[in-house]
Amino acid sequence: MRPVPGTASDRSPAEVARWCESFERRCRAAGLRVTTQRLAVYRALAEDGSHPTADSLYASLHGRMPGLSRATVYRILDSLERRQLVRRIGGSLGGGRFDANVSTHQHLVCRVCGAMVDVVLPGWSGAAVPASGVPGFEIERLDVRLVGRCSRCRGSAGEADARSRSRPRAPRRRR
Ligand SMILES: [Zn+2]
Ligand SMILES: [Zn+2]
Repeated sequence: MRPVPGTASDRSPAEVARWCESFERRCRAAGLRVTTQRLAVYRALAEDGSHPTADSLYASLHGRMPGLSRATVYRILDSLERRQLVRRIGGSLGGGRFDANVSTHQHLVCRVCGAMVDVVLPGWSGAAVPASGVPGFEIERLDVRLVGRCSRCRGSAGEADARSRSRPRAPRRRR
């Protein structure tokens, strides 16, 4: 197993720019117009490697784009996810956490603080999906979450302390 490079909470501006360029190309290929709001939502997601929720993205965008409503952020994320331009983890319509990284990878999830980190698990790629399939269901990908405790929560502080640290995400600071 190896961590995916560039999945720390803060990605470099050059990396975010590359992801946004790729996003614009994939939107055009999908016949989707690259609107200012769509791009802003994607950029905020690309900047945030923590796999934020829709609410957390809305909170980070609200200050920069006062005209952007929470409902619009939800709608944009849903439409991008339907076209597989972003990935939703552990939730259905309106819920879950989001990922700008749509390449094949799985997630390590800390059960104490909720931190979610990208990993590539050898042997757990698309090849691990049963070739025979499941009748009546179209399998698109494997979505594996390995649950445990992150290095921070395994520290001497213990779980009780970690829980007190794991408050809801504050709006991201502006850069
Ligand atoms: Zn943790
Ligand atoms: Zn991810």
